[in-house]
Amino acid sequence: MADYVVTPPAVVGLPVVGTSKLFPVRRVYCVGRNYAEHAKEMGFTGREDPFFFCKPADALIPVASGQTANMPYPSKTSNLHYEMELVVAIGKGGRDITVENANDHIYGYALGLDMTRRDLQNESKKQGRPWETGKAFDHSAPIGPVHPIQATGVLSKGSISLDVNGTQRQISDLSQMIWNIPESISYLSGLFELAPGDLIFTGTPEGVGAVVKGDKLIGKIEGLGEFEVHIV
Ligand code: MN
Repeated sequence: MADYVVTPPAVVGLPVVGTSKLFPVRRVYCVGRNYAEHAKEMGFTGREDPFFFCKPADALIPVASGQTANMPYPSKTSNLHYEMELVVAIGKGGRDITVENANDHIYGYALGLDMTRRDLQNESKKQGRPWETGKAFDHSAPIGPVHPIQATGVLSKGSISLDVNGTQRQISDLSQMIWNIPESISYLSGLFELAPGDLIFTGTPEGVGAVVKGDKLIGKIEGLGEFEVHIV
């Protein structure tokens, strides 16, 4: 066994529905502007090619079935936004995966929140700088348990929504993605070799907005149930 000069980081594991085993996370990819109405609210046409950014695996906040997660309000922002998203968990890696074969690479699905320091992201956009401070900060990605695709079947449609303090803020349908899941997997695998353990946050629908300390968020996706996150 290798001997390290400092303690090596732990593997981040997500609960998996129906088993006590965990899904180990390698990389976290996120698709930008993948619902037309959200692209429009951000000032774009909704017809751009897909693009991607990453979050570190240890930015995830795993939420077990039926549990509520606490997300600490991050530093250096006064405009923390929610983005409710379907997350795809990759079970079989590959590069240049075809759209036709892409679903075979999916282990399962989860509910996720791509939390965003919108003020810092907007400043990065204006300056032509990378998005890490706006997107990849600590605790920026609450995520529910992984539901194996064997149990859910392929998800290509179904409602996706987010309530904040009991009021619905986001509501759309998975079928409204500009780039559907097989297309995103295929496109991404042309840029990066995918491996088991990778996650893909597939983009958020319209209705993004700010939350503050004390807010209670409930995300729902048809077929995956719901998860609850409190901003603390
Ligand atoms: Mn997003």
